[in-house]
Amino acid sequence: MSQLIPSHVSPPAPGQLQLIAEDLYWLRMPLPFALDHINLYLIRDTGGWAIVDTGICSRTTKALWSQIQDQLDGPITRIFVTHMHPDHVGCAGFLTESLRVPMYMSQTEYFASRALFAGAQGAGNWQDVQYYQRAGLDADTVTKLTSDYGGFKQIVSSLPLSFQRLRAGQVLQINGTSWECILGEGHSPEHISLYCDERLVLIAGDQILPEITPNIGSYSTQPDSNPLAGYLTSLDNFAHCHPATLVLPSHRQPFVGIHTRIQELKAHHHAHLDTLRKVCQTPQTIVEILPHLFARELNEHGMFFAIAEAYAHVNYLLALGALTRHEERGVYFFSTLN
Ligand SMILES: [Zn+2]
Repeated sequence: MSQLIPSHVSPPAPGQLQLIAEDLYWLRMPLPFALDHINLYLIRDTGGWAIVDTGICSRTTKALWSQIQDQLDGPITRIFVTHMHPDHVGCAGFLTESLRVPMYMSQTEYFASRALFAGAQGAGNWQDVQYYQRAGLDADTVTKLTSDYGGFKQIVSSLPLSFQRLRAGQVLQINGTSWECILGEGHSPEHISLYCDERLVLIAGDQILPEITPNIGSYSTQPDSNPLAGYLTSLDNFAHCHPATLVLPSHRQPFVGIHTRIQELKAHHHAHLDTLRKVCQTPQTIVEILPHLFARELNEHGMFFAIAEAYAHVNYLLALGALTRHEERGVYFFSTLN
């Protein structure tokens, strides 16, 4: 099976299909964030094309999907969603509804999307407020970060009432070729990447990205969670991928070199953990830790992810017994245990 060399392939413009391997198209949808695009992929299926991830639900994305469908030599047959984040699941409901095709997703990601879409349903937000107060944020920032609950629903279409469940290790047949579902944890709870050993292609989702590291966060829904342990451990689920595998990530450029990239991702987090062990020789709050993890200035959107990422790193060290946590006037302090 011949592969195109990814460094020679330029990213497709919005609405354009770019052949990236035989019977496999790469397309991009715009995002209104610092990360301004998501990569989506189309796999030739029996009788048409299976799509992997969908873009956020916006008028622009919907119009681009219509342009894409006009260029295909067959209909969209089914929709695979790697995980619940809006840039991946956003248009899945819209496409499922308008095309009447099945949507495939892991169980946790499906139900988490439905729950996020439904919103607070009258529940109070005191736990959310407490999560940010414990991080050491000032009252104004806490108010800003806890006052908007409409975010998910604004960029995600209604989720379909039925789905096809994807499970870790499951093997799917797509146009007579086997694709394995590989479980990723940490970035989202039950992320699925699709690996084709026969064609040496991995549709990685957000689990393995080039140049940037996927966000690993302990969010206010589960503030004491340890997603970093899950992330680092589940990277080993990719150990059997062939070294020549073409990795098709959800952001930036396709690449070859999966195992080098996995080592870099692990080293990145271990370097952050080592830094925190040193910095916490003097007790630190989450807010005080941020500059040691993020070189850049953080806006409100960035702060939401950065706080969660900092919690994830201290929670990892707490679980290891390398840090302790104590609370003073409602704020957490983390100290290295010698
Ligand atoms: Zn994601």
